[in-house]
Amino acid sequence: MCIFCKIINKEIPCYKVYEDDLFLAFLDISQTTKGHTLVIPKKHFQNIFELEDAEKQNYLNVIQKVSTAIKKATNCEGINILNNNGEEAGQTVFHCHIHIIPRYSNDSFKIEFSSSSNTKEEFELLQNNIVKNF
Ligand code: 5GP
Ligand code: ZN
Repeated sequence: MCIFCKIINKEIPCYKVYEDDLFLAFLDISQTTKGHTLVIPKKHFQNIFELEDAEKQNYLNVIQKVSTAIKKATNCEGINILNNNGEEAGQTVFHCHIHIIPRYSNDSFKIEFSSSSNTKEEFELLQNNIVKNF
């Protein structure tokens, strides 16, 4: 059983902040910034691609609800909402989870979007390849 399933089953303790039929939210042990929280489905899915209709339909509502409470509790100035899918993307726990990371003017958390110089043709090829895969 994965570590987050153990948390759901109360075999491992957590600092729970929210729970409903489908989701559990608890403080991330790493506290990357003050209030760093994880929202996980109670059912085991490895990543967002495996989520079923009920989770897909309700996840963002829960994220907004929990983020609102965190914002009020911490007086943070911003919030990053982050989801890692796959080892290459930084996923270390293979039970789907969304990070809520409160941001403060003096925090040291960094997300940087580096840029590459794509030609018009490269953009169009990418665009067409994605569009035809729906
Ligand atoms: P990932 O890198 O997979 O997106 O994030 C996994 C997160 O789970 C990390 O931020 C890590 O600190 C957190 N984490 C791992 N094990 C535990 C645990 O046992 N309890 C809690 N609360 N968080 C955990
Ligand atoms: Zn699990």
